[in-house]
Amino acid sequence: MGSGEYGREWKWGLVDFDLVIRNGSVIDGTGSLRVVADIAVSDGRISRIGEVPERGQVEIDAGGYVVTPGFIDGHTHMDAQVFWDAAGTNSCWHGVTTVVMGNCGFTIAPVRADAHHLAVRSIERSEDISAAAMAAGVPWDWTTFAEYLDSIDRVPKAINYASNIGHSALRSWAMGERAFREQADAADLDCMKSELADALRAGAWGFTTSRTVHHMTPDGDPVASRLANWSEVEELIGLMGELDSGVFQFVEDPPSDAERIARDQELARLAASSGVPFIIGATSGSTRPLELIAETTSLGGTMTGMTHPRGISTMSSFMSQLPFDMLPEWAAARSDGQEAFLQRLREPETRLVLIEAAQNAQYDATYGGEARPPVFDRMHVLDSPVPPHRTVAEIAAERGIDPVQAMVEIGLESNFEVFFVQTMSPFDEKAVLRSMKSPGTVMTFSDSGAHVSQMSDASIFTHLLAYWVRDRGEFTLEEAIEMMTSAPAQAWGFTDRGVLREGMVADINIFDPDTVAPELPTLAHDLPAGARRIVQKSTGFLATVVAGEITVRDGRSTGATPGRLLRGKPRSKTGKVNK
Ligand SMILES: [Zn+2]
Repeated sequence: MGSGEYGREWKWGLVDFDLVIRNGSVIDGTGSLRVVADIAVSDGRISRIGEVPERGQVEIDAGGYVVTPGFIDGHTHMDAQVFWDAAGTNSCWHGVTTVVMGNCGFTIAPVRADAHHLAVRSIERSEDISAAAMAAGVPWDWTTFAEYLDSIDRVPKAINYASNIGHSALRSWAMGERAFREQADAADLDCMKSELADALRAGAWGFTTSRTVHHMTPDGDPVASRLANWSEVEELIGLMGELDSGVFQFVEDPPSDAERIARDQELARLAASSGVPFIIGATSGSTRPLELIAETTSLGGTMTGMTHPRGISTMSSFMSQLPFDMLPEWAAARSDGQEAFLQRLREPETRLVLIEAAQNAQYDATYGGEARPPVFDRMHVLDSPVPPHRTVAEIAAERGIDPVQAMVEIGLESNFEVFFVQTMSPFDEKAVLRSMKSPGTVMTFSDSGAHVSQMSDASIFTHLLAYWVRDRGEFTLEEAIEMMTSAPAQAWGFTDRGVLREGMVADINIFDPDTVAPELPTLAHDLPAGARRIVQKSTGFLATVVAGEITVRDGRSTGATPGRLLRGKPRSKTGKVNK
């Protein structure tokens, strides 16, 4: 409550509020149409939506803006970043007020005091989180997952975090080095189950694992979770079912056509029999996840597919890294630092040598933070924040030159600052839209906190608003807001946020629907130990509010840290997740 100085003379009586947001078009997150209303906030929660004649200690005139719930991102890897970035960038610039981390089996807890390297080994290459940054920026003042949650609780945060416990870390906890080589024996499994149960009781949001060949250690070995046989995973999910607690997220390679039906039945049955909500990837536009979700639903289970609005992509640039960097000519050109490299590219003779080397090269498959082999007809030039973007192949054809030469020319013309964006698989717009519009899917999967030198998908939220809503008209604004608020809240079980309603936590965005958009990304070297990452802000936001406090105002962090660690609780008997 405020001082009481304001409002006493007003017709509604004595109450005043911590914050009043006036005259905004309120889109409540349920899909309902917008209504012009005031919102009053007290003690971090929404106390009234409607007419608010009383004064607030802080007042925001939101006339001409829309007012929505804060956005919820179910798939991030901010596990290390949370300790060195109180603002929660880049997510905070794009309206995100709550993130779920600890996905794909990767967490930095639980971890034995003498075995930090084992947790780091699984996460470092898979998620491209600098080991030097983790050594310098993470306090490592825990061993168990419960102690890790307490540590997150202690650090100042501008956004809210929920954390899953990762299978790779759990396995390394139980098995040490053997986690990277062996099947678990009965004692190993008991140790994992005991720590998983403790983690869930302490508030872990769920349990996650990876079974995909894309997740490798720096030595080229599979990450620890990939050594687990499926019965180990089933046992751990069974325990979650017994405790009625947590969601299960996993990533695996698509099964062969011959194995697919049996595999999908197995997954659907397990989701149904355990009662644990399953979360899977549905980013490529493939119909398999949609069919798997439908099958799971028909058996009485719960499964959510995570979609992505522009296809998971990697970004490269002359300032960061390029697919050619591992070639000896390019490595030599880069060996004396960035300025010398750019100078060499400006010299026609050296440039020719580099272009020829890149044209004639064989490119190997790459993982994690490494630049992907070039595919010029799906490598786009990011010369504006949202599409359309031309491909390098198109520009090369237009200019009548080779694509590598075109990349270098485009680099020269942009003072080498332009980014090239390449989708991991061909982007099928119709298929991706079908996935985004399917029941049981949620648009999320920013991977925020991971792949920081070559991905910048915290901006998928502003991309949805600028591109798919405003430019393309594929979703109404109300539909898009629902997709980023109540839909993920329901899928992940956040019952006190994701909708603007009296009594809910006051996580709120205020933005201009006519201008909201991502900005062009830039490269920064601002991580602990000077590691680099891509920074991407947005335009159009008047303010973002977390638990009633303004955290971002006119695109700048206010320094307020009202964010909280959100702890999971057992589901209630109704089957709803009860947080
Ligand atoms: Zn992930």
